[in-house]
Amino acid sequence: MINLFKICYKCKKEKSINEFYKHKGMNDGHLNICKECKRKYGRKYSKNNRDKINEYRRNNPKIKLLRKNEHLRNKDRYIERAKERYKKNKKKYIEYRIKNKEKIAIRTKIWFKKNHIKASYYSSKRRALVRNATGNLTYREIIRQHNIQEDRCYYCGKRLNNHYDVDHIIPLSRGGNHSCGNIVIACETCNERKSNKLLIEFKIYKRLWGTF
Ligand SMILES: [Zn+2]
Ligand SMILES: [Zn+2]
Repeated sequence: MINLFKICYKCKKEKSINEFYKHKGMNDGHLNICKECKRKYGRKYSKNNRDKINEYRRNNPKIKLLRKNEHLRNKDRYIERAKERYKKNKKKYIEYRIKNKEKIAIRTKIWFKKNHIKASYYSSKRRALVRNATGNLTYREIIRQHNIQEDRCYYCGKRLNNHYDVDHIIPLSRGGNHSCGNIVIACETCNERKSNKLLIEFKIYKRLWGTF
């Protein structure tokens, strides 16, 4: 095998081709920057462009899927590690959150808009936790309920176009549980109006105020 040499674009040193990372897009199949420079440059770049890189990772579907699969495989380990990391850097996290309050709020808002159903799932889960409700409703059960109702609101029958809330038939605040037997899918308006009423109370309310 011939030992090829190449001049690094960054440090201008002539080095063996093995000192360059492979890259399909280049003419000779190798990068123009040597491994050493690439590592140095890469670290500097990622330090200065952390937001840009994170944004790219967040929005690239290929990376997203890879990460998702990896995450599912090692779910328990990730949760454990995240907990430890949080404990260790609690002060830093809180400081970051205070410092970037607006940025985080915008990001959260966008996420909620994009992931309305998941958001509804999480918020119902949180409410159940607060109320100490029994039952462990899963995301899949919500999707199933939506399919059963054929994309229509349980209360008004309006088409939901995949935009809906999870409603507890017996409200959590009235002792209802957080399981698939106690939930229906409802439009935002109905969910808001039903609020913490029992079904019979909601029926009377609807009769008094007319159907909407
Ligand atoms: Zn170099
Ligand atoms: Zn409705």
